[in-house]
Amino acid sequence: MNNIDGKTRTLGLIGNPVEHTMSPFIHNLFANAMNINMVYVPFHVENGYLEPAIKGAKALNLLGNNITVPYKVEVMQYLDEIDKNAKVIGAVNTIHYKEDKIYGYNTDAAGFLKSSLKVGIEFEGKIVSILGAGGAAKAIAAVCAENRVKKIYLTNRTVEKAEALKNTLQTHYPELNIDVLDYNALLLVEEMDICFQTTSIGMFPNVEASPITELNFLSKLKWAVDAIYNPSETKFLSLAKSQGVKTLNGLGMLYYQAVRAFEIWHGVTIPEEIIDQCYARFTQYVYSR
Ligand code: NAP
Repeated sequence: MNNIDGKTRTLGLIGNPVEHTMSPFIHNLFANAMNINMVYVPFHVENGYLEPAIKGAKALNLLGNNITVPYKVEVMQYLDEIDKNAKVIGAVNTIHYKEDKIYGYNTDAAGFLKSSLKVGIEFEGKIVSILGAGGAAKAIAAVCAENRVKKIYLTNRTVEKAEALKNTLQTHYPELNIDVLDYNALLLVEEMDICFQTTSIGMFPNVEASPITELNFLSKLKWAVDAIYNPSETKFLSLAKSQGVKTLNGLGMLYYQAVRAFEIWHGVTIPEEIIDQCYARFTQYVYSR
């Protein structure tokens, strides 16, 4: 950051709000570690200004943007090419300005997959439950489908959204075994390997809330995974842990989606050693604040 000069490339997060973001910390950390001349900053874009923001970013020769709430879907109409993964998920979180074109990607799925594989979660042949049907659920469901789980149970407060997600997934993965269940019916399912909690229930400051509190259900699991990373251990995770279930929070998903975005923009592969070193610094930064 102290070495900005005439060749520095600019990147940044477009959203509303963006004031809470940790992406500048991560990307500027990678830039230092990889010795790349760039700067990553937050861009607060008011509703109604997304199109001029994207056109302006291209005109100003930005290298790329991350896109966050509420623009991940809306931004798709302003792009020239969208990769398959982003089409399945129906949202773009990373755009790349390259050779006069704007390319869109969704790196949440790759981030979630890498974070899961790092701790030893296996997908193939597993019976899984996904709570929620929003952006995080779509990315996680796509990974489950792509990695050949045996069965997905999808549960969401608004049933129509779960049905819509089921239909989208079945369009892209016709062999996928997927059912929509309400919370009461889900609790009665006898065999369950992994439960992915992707609702915003339990997120700071509502740390005592959990979409599922039934220990009988949680005790069946091998893994409980939460997309939330603040707090580091949600009520859902702590209840599952009390039953001897292995747990994973959402910090890795957030971090590894940034790794993938960085690699797309700069055309590099960050060595595993640097990824692990930066992750340790990032974890310390997040949880010591
Ligand atoms: P979203 O698209 O707005 O979806 C929110 C989901 O939570 C919906 O399924 C919604 O159900 C459900 N929900 C919210 N309040 C609820 C309540 N009181 N009772 C029952 N269900 C409720 O949000 P998102 O982007 O998927 O984010 C969801 C969570 O994942 C957030 O905590 C976010 O921070 C986290 N996340 C983490 C990462 C990461 O990298 N770790 C990435 C993305 C998101 P309805 O459909 O019924 O409204």
